[in-house]
Amino acid sequence: MRKSFLSGVLAAFATAMAASAPLQVSALHPLMADLARQVGGDRVKVVDLVGEGGNPHRFEPRPDDLARMQASALVLAAGKGLEPYLNRLHDSLQGVRVVEVGSSIPSLTLARDGDGDGAAGTPDPHWWHGVENMRRAARVVALALADKDPAGKTDFLANAQTYGARLELMQRWATSELAKVPRSQRKLVTAHNAFAYFAKEFDFTVIAVAGLNAEQNNTPQALAKTIEAVKRSRVKAIFPEYKANAKVLESIAAASATTLAAPLIADGNGSGQDAGFEAMFRHNVQSITQALAAP
Ligand SMILES: [Zn+2]
Repeated sequence: MRKSFLSGVLAAFATAMAASAPLQVSALHPLMADLARQVGGDRVKVVDLVGEGGNPHRFEPRPDDLARMQASALVLAAGKGLEPYLNRLHDSLQGVRVVEVGSSIPSLTLARDGDGDGAAGTPDPHWWHGVENMRRAARVVALALADKDPAGKTDFLANAQTYGARLELMQRWATSELAKVPRSQRKLVTAHNAFAYFAKEFDFTVIAVAGLNAEQNNTPQALAKTIEAVKRSRVKAIFPEYKANAKVLESIAAASATTLAAPLIADGNGSGQDAGFEAMFRHNVQSITQALAAP
């Protein structure tokens, strides 16, 4: 009796603690921050280090970022090689657990150097374009949060399940939307070769065309090759990257008699109404359907 009274008091105390001091979680990718919010609810305080609209490929933690991570209970990284600085981070963060959320998700391998921002033969880091992968990741985050806040375990798992059910509905919506795209047009020619996981899940082919990256220098020869590859693919439209300079793509589209579609969001770096996984995913599905669906 006394014991149950005591555990009741402790539980109430833990709840009060959780209410007054949420678990601080830092994220090295805007979509990992989104996952932490979805799963953690009001039991967590999420620090999105890259920030809305930021590019997780280019992010390098500065001293004030390190201080914020050091003050966190948990740091969430995307993993699969996206954050090349993780080893150094492990060394400088004392006793803060860094979870690579994508590490247990099956990898696709990069076919060529520079595809998906890595070397040939290494894992493609863009696993967040698979809806199935994000459902799995929600559970990974739930268990990582529960490890630091055991009293919240039931909540975290329930939130992950609710979120997963919502994603399942979104996946069905996407399948029926994308069914409007005829088989011959199920090809994604993109500025940033980030959509292999999406292509696998929704039965598209990614046309690996060199020279479509925003930062890449395009020689006239490389450009001619790109135009040739786009023509060969017989696609109606090519996809610029969100917020990237579309000038090179405009000339490729003009020379290959294709059109430029609405930009795709590759790295969860949409802002405003395009921020977060669900908004990014819906935006991309709509852009692809509008550009490639049968008239
Ligand atoms: Zn990327």
